[in-house]
Amino acid sequence: MKAELQKLIALQNLDTSIRKLEKDQEAIPERRAEIEREFDQRAFEIRALENRRDEAKHARARLENEVVEQRGRAERAERNLMSSKKQDEYTAAIREADAARKQISALETQILEQMENLEQAEAALKERADEIATLNSDREAKLKAFDDESGTIGERLATARKDREELFTNLPKQMSGLYSRIRARIRDGVAVAEARNRSCTACFMSLRPQVMAEIRRGEEVITCDNCGRILYFVPTESIQADAAAPQPNVAIT
Ligand SMILES: [Zn+2]
Repeated sequence: MKAELQKLIALQNLDTSIRKLEKDQEAIPERRAEIEREFDQRAFEIRALENRRDEAKHARARLENEVVEQRGRAERAERNLMSSKKQDEYTAAIREADAARKQISALETQILEQMENLEQAEAALKERADEIATLNSDREAKLKAFDDESGTIGERLATARKDREELFTNLPKQMSGLYSRIRARIRDGVAVAEARNRSCTACFMSLRPQVMAEIRRGEEVITCDNCGRILYFVPTESIQADAAAPQPNVAIT
């Protein structure tokens, strides 16, 4: 009986691993997409900075051309001023020169703004230079590591399923039937639980001393009155430092 109980515990451990591996396998596409999204976001930020830098450069060049034009306009107005013979010509030339100078001053303010934009964008790009240099290779390396890791899940799952099948078919029919019935009924699929400190560690229900004594003896299958799980007892000397572990790792023998 004790050996069969050990097998039930081993079966439970395998079922728990299978459940976890299945969840991991299900999560693969979403986790991979998450890595891609993270890199897309970083590439997007870098592109935005590069665009800001380029736009500032172009805007500055355009403004400088406009300044040249306005200087020409101001020079023409100065010449007209010198050569004007009538009062209205003189007034018009003064107005024209004035307008050109005002334009130049406004353009110079805009040039300063664009130079500031350019400096900021260049500083931000410089700060991320290392990241920019390796962004694509980092992305590939991260995706490859992820694919390598997730590629083993399928193999591990196949091995665990095979081991489980073997263990399950070698159990007495009555035992495997009981296990399957409990497992089907319980939401977390955990059909076997440890009895510790006089209670069921799965549902925390207290166990009567007599029931506890039967579980300790391990001569027959005892189930929890409350949750219906098969209960087992781990002698204190075999509980090592990690008493917090919910299930001991029982070797399949
Ligand atoms: Zn219970």
